Amino acid sequence: MKSYREVFIVHTPSRRKLINITEKLSQAVRKSGIKEGLLLCNSMHITSSVFINDDESGLHQDFENWLEKLAPEKPYSMYYHNTYEDNADAHLKRTIMGREVVIAITNGELDLGTWERVFYGEFDGKRDKSVLIKIIGE
Ligand code: ZN
Repeated sequence: MKSYREVFIVHTPSRRKLINITEKLSQAVRKSGIKEGLLLCNSMHITSSVFINDDESGLHQDFENWLEKLAPEKPYSMYYHNTYEDNADAHLKRTIMGREVVIAITNGELDLGTWERVFYGEFDGKRDKSVLIKIIGE
């Protein structure tokens, strides 16, 4: 069995942003040389997510509105966590949107559904964040 590991850095200029990382993962699969196996991708931080959904701008705005209803950023004082930090909402958003994805690799490619795209969801940005890609197979 072969394995491949890669970490890439994301730095968003805004506090919240969704970034399509599908091509980044496809490149990693090609670099790995693995034809049949599994790819795991996760954010290495507790205030950002990796998830799969549609690359459609209206839906992305819906995610923003929905998450702000569930866990609004402000007022910061509404959260017990915000004593020396202001990112309680980002921890909650990350939990809802998930930590990682696992994707099958078939014939050397990501085996995704027609409209499935992989996103990095930043909820407390403006700083470097690490994203892990791990691929195993043969
Ligand atoms: Zn925190």
